[in-house]
Amino acid sequence: MNCCLIVVDSLRADFALSAGSKRQNFFEKVASRTHTFQKAYATECWTLPTHMSMFTGLLPSQHEAHLQTMGYRGDSPTIAELLAKEGFHTELVTRNSIFDGTMPGVTRGFQHNTLVLSDLKGLNVMSVVLALTKPRFRRQIETTGFFHPLQRDNREFLANFARATVPADREALGIVIDRIRSLRVQKKPFFIFANLYDVHAPYPPVEKSMIRPLLARNGFAEAVRMPFVLPRLGGHAYLAPDFKLSERNRQLLIDRYVDAVEMMSDKLSEFYAALEAMGALEDTLVIITSDHGEAFGDHGLYLHDSSVWQTHLHVPLHVHHPGIAPAPVEDIVSTKDLFGLMRAATLGHTWQDTILDSNYRQRHPIAIAEHFFSPHATHAAERYRQNLVAGIGGADKVILRHDGPTHFDLAKDPNETEPISAPIEDFAVACASSGIDTVCTEPAMAHFREWRHHNSA
Ligand SMILES: [Zn+2]
Repeated sequence: MNCCLIVVDSLRADFALSAGSKRQNFFEKVASRTHTFQKAYATECWTLPTHMSMFTGLLPSQHEAHLQTMGYRGDSPTIAELLAKEGFHTELVTRNSIFDGTMPGVTRGFQHNTLVLSDLKGLNVMSVVLALTKPRFRRQIETTGFFHPLQRDNREFLANFARATVPADREALGIVIDRIRSLRVQKKPFFIFANLYDVHAPYPPVEKSMIRPLLARNGFAEAVRMPFVLPRLGGHAYLAPDFKLSERNRQLLIDRYVDAVEMMSDKLSEFYAALEAMGALEDTLVIITSDHGEAFGDHGLYLHDSSVWQTHLHVPLHVHHPGIAPAPVEDIVSTKDLFGLMRAATLGHTWQDTILDSNYRQRHPIAIAEHFFSPHATHAAERYRQNLVAGIGGADKVILRHDGPTHFDLAKDPNETEPISAPIEDFAVACASSGIDTVCTEPAMAHFREWRHHNSA
């Protein structure tokens, strides 16, 4: 069986569903046609570690690709490596610079790396200004000596980075469709992964530009304020103890994000219809998910950073498998387990013993997430300068920090505003009272006990 993995970067589960208010919502519509996971959790709060978890089946502390390493150097094969070896066509399609090949190991196993940029019409001075505020880009400048303008490669990187702020996912999905069509004709098995970037900051709110037309609703106000708002979030600035963003500016970001998500919903609808029309749903495992959410002042945070909050962990997850009828799933799952599903489906094994199997989910009832803090954010408040681990089991969520565990009752307090201070053992007790077998809780408890090695990193 073939596999197509679509990751909508930075798409929060709650915003994905609510984007249907103005027109028909893809995530709602596809829910009755796929395995729809209502409690799917990412393993970290940003792109590199969460993707490497999906690619290897490992937690960030195991694959060690995170802010403190900025690359994947592990021995575990990635799904793309496994499938390339089996004769699959393996390809990644994106404009996200995480996958541009500069970070070690991240694109291992992908035979083709297709960069999709919009044409240059949408590019403007503001895109360049915003590109320059990205922490990774600034690091790139520092380490590669960008300020030597005659270095062709770096100028190309700047141009690409700026162009990446202009929507191009309709084109990216078009390339995925073309590729699937021609590979199916050739009867060549494939693994195609696309990271979609149109809802990622700076949240382009219109089809072909990162700024609204001046005469559109909010257009003028936004054009005046945007050049000052997004750059304020660059370089992890919001982690500083005294950081503040006005309610008006916070709302500006949310409005843009909502519009970007709504357009994404349309793009995915067209994509899914095209897959169906060509018959690809009959021989292809199709996964549509996100790598993490996005914060708009939630818990004092912005973008996706320094968090194991639900805001960042809870992601949409839809799986179409030709061999199993669609169903809504309320069990907790981790997106790292997509690795096992992709491997089983592509190598000809059944969906049993994957997250599509309710027995498997019963045996793996706990989602663990971690965060490895950035050593470069030296201005960050003390509470952000520590590694974090969290577990979600039943209605209980526990977060382990330097100063001890904090619990949240997600049934009564889904926004995590009422912390409960209690020993880590209470997590196992809460899981047991939700009917989870102690044997299934033990690996998570062992992981928490081991965590102090990472905590002192
Ligand atoms: Zn991401």
